[in-house]
Amino acid sequence: WSRLASGLSRTASSLTQGITDLVTKRKLDTATLEDLEDLLIRADLGGPVAARIVEKVGKGRHDKMIAPEDVRGLIADEVETILAPVATPLIVDRSQKPFILLMVGVNGSGKTTTIGKLASQWRAEGLKVMLAAGDTFRAAAIEQLKVWGARTGAAVIARPPGSDAAGVAHDAITQARAEGADVLLIDTAGRLQNRTELMAELEKVVRVVKKLQPGAPHAVLLVLDATVGQNALSQVEVFTKVAGVTGLVMTKLDGTARGGILVAIAEKHRLPIHLVGVGEGQDDLQPFAARDFARAIAG
Ligand code: GDP
Repeated sequence: WSRLASGLSRTASSLTQGITDLVTKRKLDTATLEDLEDLLIRADLGGPVAARIVEKVGKGRHDKMIAPEDVRGLIADEVETILAPVATPLIVDRSQKPFILLMVGVNGSGKTTTIGKLASQWRAEGLKVMLAAGDTFRAAAIEQLKVWGARTGAAVIARPPGSDAAGVAHDAITQARAEGADVLLIDTAGRLQNRTELMAELEKVVRVVKKLQPGAPHAVLLVLDATVGQNALSQVEVFTKVAGVTGLVMTKLDGTARGGILVAIAEKHRLPIHLVGVGEGQDDLQPFAARDFARAIAG
């Protein structure tokens, strides 16, 4: 919780300062409420969430004074109400062997790092973990995955850069089955510059996984970088269409002023949010907790 709170302190301090400036020495009239709505929108919470919060804050308090901490409390409550239904632990179904996760998201969002962190956690729990280097487009992504494999003691299945990603997925599933792996994490490419190619490649990977292992992929995790703000919303749309996203991971919540975007995504897409990234290290991945998050952003 303290890592999350310090990570989100930039989001929180701009909100806190803005609220204090708004309501100190000023009655809660229509103009104040409109300014509050603008402030919440600028904090990336999104129009619908901002409108709902303002309605709550204004209810029964028109033309009265309100303390900044009371406004923050009302915001935290509303945010928690939105987040609680989507906060979902990521659980490896041990009856699926291997349990297959597909990681999707744009380049730089933190897919490979998140795979490494998950591998580390699950290895520590004694699971046999395998990693598939399905981002065959970038040689560096393959190398990075191998580093995580060596660090965590997870086998890495890779082919040379430029190989067919679906082929890597095929090899990986075959090997994971042969060696009795508990979990197989499949990395994928995320070059949004060429959307048609990316979609075709992802669709093919999904098709191959489904064909080889009925019922799989058991989870399709979309990794989102919190620092991109509103762009994350369109990424959810694109990847949900192409890859059938089952849940979200939001990275880089350490030190961003744009943490509010997670609330806008929860409100709009209602997809499960499993995990949050709060740093680059292998222990910097936390289960997503609605109340902690709400308290961290409302200060
Ligand atoms: P990919 O292209 O989606 O596989 O992204 P990477 O896993 O290579 O991550 C891109 C960069 O973001 C790397 O420098 C990571 O160390 C960094 N990164 C990933 N997750 C986090 C996080 O939660 N916090 C911070 N600060 N950096 C992160």
